[in-house]
This record gives sequence, structure tokens and C-alpha cells, in this order.
Amino acid sequence: MTTFHLVILKCPACAALMTQYDLMSYTVHDSTSYSDGKCDSGAPSSKLICICPECTKPFWKEDGRYQDEPDHQQADQLPGAMDMYDLPWRFDDDNEEKRIGFYQDLLKDGFADGDKKEEYVRTMIWWAINDLVRNICSWTQARNIRQFKAITRHRRKFKALYKQYHSLFIENLDRMIFLFIKNGDPDLLFLAEMYREKGDFKKAREIYDKVEDPHLKFYRTLDGLIRKKVKKVVQL
Ligand SMILES: [Zn+2]
Repeated sequence: MTTFHLVILKCPACAALMTQYDLMSYTVHDSTSYSDGKCDSGAPSSKLICICPECTKPFWKEDGRYQDEPDHQQADQLPGAMDMYDLPWRFDDDNEEKRIGFYQDLLKDGFADGDKKEEYVRTMIWWAINDLVRNICSWTQARNIRQFKAITRHRRKFKALYKQYHSLFIENLDRMIFLFIKNGDPDLLFLAEMYREKGDFKKAREIYDKVEDPHLKFYRTLDGLIRKKVKKVVQL
């Protein structure tokens, strides 16, 4: 069962109060997970960055903690914290690019003060670029020539976009790998995955061979992907 705990947050910029939920536990059985660690669980509280509904400035959830056991009557009067999916460009044609740009701007503005925060924002960039090809339509979904043409257009657009972000993708992974190693005791399977997605299969294999817990589901999948020199993110 998925359980949430209500909390009140205070915007560090304008002091507006808002409600948010802490995720206490959730089931992963219904969710789809991917090799890059993204999980389509729809759990809002796993998101660490909130957006203030008053001033629309982003802030770290931890920096906005105000009240942990709020009075429900008071909480009912307050708006909920937003996240980036509530921003007005959500339905724009280029929302994927705006999402990547949003996280890039956070890094440029020094929003991610500290390695852990930088790792988080960079993970969001990694996932957002992978999203361009994560759920790309397959030819087999076409039922007629009109759908076939639409899918062709869709695939062409997203593959071109994915290519366009290639240098950012590599630069971002390089920095994540640096932070992972610098902070000590990295998750080796995850590190091997980063090298694989970069296309450095030699290094991916070298790290993979150091993994001591071969019982994880991802362990076997990753072995095959490195062997076949597949770079793309995959569904597990
Ligand atoms: Zn605010």
C-alpha cells in the first residue's frame, strides 16, 4: 500500500505556506522501472524539488520544511506545492526541451549547492534526455498508413532531439560518474550502467566484474547489454 504523510512547507523565497506529502512507503509492483533507475511509480513525494504556487520559484523540499504534524483544518486552506509538471509549458510542443532547460538553468544558477543536490539535478537531466527515446512509439503500433506516417514523424523528431542532446548527455554522465566516485562507495551496477550508456563498454565491463551481489534482477540484464554493446536505456 502506498502511504503518504501530510506536511506544511514554507517557501524560502516568499514565505508562502503550502502543503505537500512525504512518501512513507509504496509498492513498486505496479510500476515500470528502467536501467537508468527511473521508476514510473507516480509517487509525487519522491520529488525533492518543489515549486512555490505563489512566486513559482523552485526550492528544495528539505529547505522548506515548516510543520510536520499540521492541523488538517489549517492545511485544507493552503494550496498544494507545485512541481515542474504544473508549470504552464507542460503542454507545449517543446515541453521535453523546456524540461531539460529547466534543470540546466538550476545548475547554472547554483541551485544545487552540494554534491548530493547536484547528483539529483543531474539525474533529472539524465532521465529527461532518456525520456526522449524511453517510450518511443514502435512501428508495430501502426494499424494503418496514416498512423504509420505519424509514428515515422514522431520517431524522427525524438531521435533527432536525442542526438541534439548527445554532448550534454555525455558531459552530464561524466560529471555524475566523477561525483559518484568522489563521494565514495558507489553503487557499482549503477556506475557500470552510466559507462554503458556513455558507450564505454570496456569500463562498464571492468566495473561490472567488481559487483559482488549477482542476485539482483538488473545484474543479468546489464551483462547482456554490455556484451551486445547496447547504449540505450532499457525497461527492466
Ligand atoms: Zn514563494
